Amino acid sequence: MKIWFLTGSQGLYGEDTLRQVAEQSQRIAEQLPVPVEWKPVLTDAAAIRRVMLEANADDECAGLIAWMHTFSPAKMWIAGLDALRKPLLHLHTQANVELPWSTIDMDFMNLNQAAHGDREFGFVQTRLGVPRKTVAGHVTDPSVGERIETWARAAKGLAEVRTLKLARFGDNMRDVAVTEGDKVEAQLRFGVSVNTYGVNDLVEAVDAASDADVTALVKEYAEQYAVAPELLGERNESLRYAARIELGLRGFLEAGGFRAFTTNFEDLGGLRQLPGLAVQRLMADGYGFGGEGDWKTSVLLRTLKAMKPGGTSFMEDYTYNLTPGHELILGAHMLEVCPSIAAGTPSCEIHPLGIGGREDPVRLVFDAEPGPGIVVGLADMGDRFRLVANEIDIVTPPQPLPKLPVARAVWSPRPNLRTSTESWLTAGAPHHTVLSTAVGREELTDLADMLGVELLVIDADTTTERFTKELRWNQAYYRLAQGL
Ligand code: MN
Repeated sequence: MKIWFLTGSQGLYGEDTLRQVAEQSQRIAEQLPVPVEWKPVLTDAAAIRRVMLEANADDECAGLIAWMHTFSPAKMWIAGLDALRKPLLHLHTQANVELPWSTIDMDFMNLNQAAHGDREFGFVQTRLGVPRKTVAGHVTDPSVGERIETWARAAKGLAEVRTLKLARFGDNMRDVAVTEGDKVEAQLRFGVSVNTYGVNDLVEAVDAASDADVTALVKEYAEQYAVAPELLGERNESLRYAARIELGLRGFLEAGGFRAFTTNFEDLGGLRQLPGLAVQRLMADGYGFGGEGDWKTSVLLRTLKAMKPGGTSFMEDYTYNLTPGHELILGAHMLEVCPSIAAGTPSCEIHPLGIGGREDPVRLVFDAEPGPGIVVGLADMGDRFRLVANEIDIVTPPQPLPKLPVARAVWSPRPNLRTSTESWLTAGAPHHTVLSTAVGREELTDLADMLGVELLVIDADTTTERFTKELRWNQAYYRLAQGL
């Protein structure tokens, strides 16, 4: 993936000035925190339109950064910006940091006038309704670099979801509402293609795994995790079957080019265990996953994992600690929490599972690493998709949880449990989420802007009253923005 760097100017200044513009622009491009492909300085409408069309056509181009070093009359940019379908970052910077007060003359003023040229460029972008991120400041300012990096990560996530293929094993859990959604709209809005496969096609792949591969994988488990002695002894066959599921599932996904999937405990066909360990390990390798047929959360998980490596997992708000002043959320799932968020070495265990009606499933058990994070959910509101995020602080559980046989995260939601949950429920946000300590609100904001999808953030400053108003305003905005 590449980011292109565009520089705007015009022919009026003459060759000497344009040479300086090109030199200085290359120097700015080299100082950016993300590698960019520098493009020759743009001085006319035909070249601008041409470069935008080339960006659209190049699958390797994830987005464009544009800077008006000099004045660049913006009517030149209309056709190009109107044609552009890639993410755009408007960098409002300048070659020099300090003004050369004692030597400044009109030549310097005409060369270094982003203050003027970027205003012209901002106008035409707004006039055309071009979605973009605007970042102001000198490129040597670390906060400028960080905001550009954040945008580049969102662009990477966008490129991923645009070509994502998701395999569902089984449909949605019966009667569940929030995991439903419009797959045609999702393909138009996000790009992802969501299709269902018979779970017995997966069973065939699971059964076909070779004994030698199973043995090798079980050895890998023993090296990576604290495997319960019974799984290496009298219940070794259950661990071997879990490895078989992983081999079959991984092979199926690789063969089909799928980078996300869902399962449903109500539709397990000939699978002897509900996939637990396999799903956890595939998530750790970057696959998207959603339980109970939840393809929307699976898409979101894969997209966030593509944006930035680190701790990012499928999650579900499960139960609360309501002790006044110490309110906490305990998040987990039946089995499927990604070990990328684990504190320490996960233990590999086997326990009964009432749901699903199969043999006891093998799973990884751990607590999540404490630290700041975010949970984000994707809901289909009927006329559009809505993302809701909550900034959280993951904590060490106040006491050990020796009887809880699943991986879990315990967190304190910002600003507090009451405001967080009242806002979350009022927004109609889902019970399945993606929890991440890698991706933050700015990446999500950039991604939502690129997708044209609503994002509501519940943070330290949220009040239920203001949040409810924001919902009402957004309702009107997003309906108007859709047109007829
Ligand atoms: Mn669930």
